[in-house]
Amino acid sequence: MERVKKNDTVRVISGKDAGKEGRVVQVYRSRERVMVEGVNRITKHQRQRATRTGAREGGLIHEEAPIHLSNVMPICPKCGRPTRTGSRVVEGKRARVCKRPDCGSEF
Ligand SMILES: [Zn+2]
Repeated sequence: MERVKKNDTVRVISGKDAGKEGRVVQVYRSRERVMVEGVNRITKHQRQRATRTGAREGGLIHEEAPIHLSNVMPICPKCGRPTRTGSRVVEGKRARVCKRPDCGSEF
């Protein structure tokens, strides 16, 4: 069972973006990383070069980079707090559950 899925809202718990929240736009399971909207923005310094059409490209390019799964926690949509997850079998399927003792909802 995945701890974090695409379109989840997650809270960043460590690193320079600690405390930020964002939507998961991509999960890289094999690399154990997720791409989170607005989190871990990096600046690439690209050399200026002319393309075939004559347009110039280059300068600073801002984009997001994936961050490690261990640095994020999913936010439970029911209680609105970052939580650890467990799993429970519901109607023959495994469901992800919020581990908050006073919540325990599936999401
Ligand atoms: Zn909850």
